[in-house]
Amino acid sequence: MSAHSEFSLIQHYFEHLTSQRDDVLLGIGDDCALLQCPADHAIAVSIDTLVEGVHFFSDVEPESLGHKSLAVGLSDLAAMGATPAWFTLALSLPEANEKWLRGFSKGLANLATEYGIQLVGGDTTRGPLTISIQVHGIVKSGQALRRDGAQEGDLIYVSGCLGDAGAAVQLKLQQLDESSLQNEDKYYLQQRLERPTPRIALGQKLSGLATAAIDISDGLLADLGHIVEKSNVGARVELAQLPLSSALMKLDRTLAEQLALTSGDDYQLCFTVPPENVERLENLLGNQCHQIGVLTTGIAISCFNQQGELIEIKGTGYDHFPA
Ligand SMILES: [Mg+2]
Repeated sequence: MSAHSEFSLIQHYFEHLTSQRDDVLLGIGDDCALLQCPADHAIAVSIDTLVEGVHFFSDVEPESLGHKSLAVGLSDLAAMGATPAWFTLALSLPEANEKWLRGFSKGLANLATEYGIQLVGGDTTRGPLTISIQVHGIVKSGQALRRDGAQEGDLIYVSGCLGDAGAAVQLKLQQLDESSLQNEDKYYLQQRLERPTPRIALGQKLSGLATAAIDISDGLLADLGHIVEKSNVGARVELAQLPLSSALMKLDRTLAEQLALTSGDDYQLCFTVPPENVERLENLLGNQCHQIGVLTTGIAISCFNQQGELIEIKGTGYDHFPA
């Protein structure tokens, strides 16, 4: 098959992948797509690239990879409080493998449909397996959740549980003592790594309540560090308050805390809330979110154990697969 027809074939898998939105004036098939942004709204844009062997294991199911490739972009939209609208896809593939394309496009389409985001353009080339997705969301002018709005005294919250994806990576690399884990725990951890849930609805609810937000892609300390740096505040994190899944609780406590603080790929939200908004937040979100600390002066993050002792944490960010 010539390279040209091979890549026409690929386009066939993606052209009618997602549902049609009214604000797409012109979709796939011209030099550019034409998109209509509503008045008094801004467009939130983010791009992520996933490279085989760096951001995902070579044996991951193509359907899971399709899910994750879009989920990481949606997570950035969630962190801004934006509503997903459109995305573009650049795919580099070593060969046009139909089985792989079917699985990948299915995982991508299912998540796109769930969040109402439409594929409006793309490009395919031959090369090492690499997936770039640019997402576009819509947010009311002045309402986006940014990293630079946090204030001293704000409480720090996170959604969901932390450290699960990091544990799954260690499990896969056989670097984890898994004797305490059941098969269902291992399955749960693998799902958290391969099928993260973008917290879109949560991000939208935080508008007007949170002063700053970020999604946890590189680890809590690294990502909270971006809020601390941009907002020019410090942070005190209580290790006893870190939300850990039942699977993670079965591991050594220090290891579980280390994973929750420094491992990436959880795609939960970390956000800051002024004390006067806490009651409203807790009424709205109940136990979906956990308070893990408070913002202070200075621009450093300090972690304290249950006894109130300052704990030094090794490594603050997730460097994808450890060498
Ligand atoms: Mg992000």
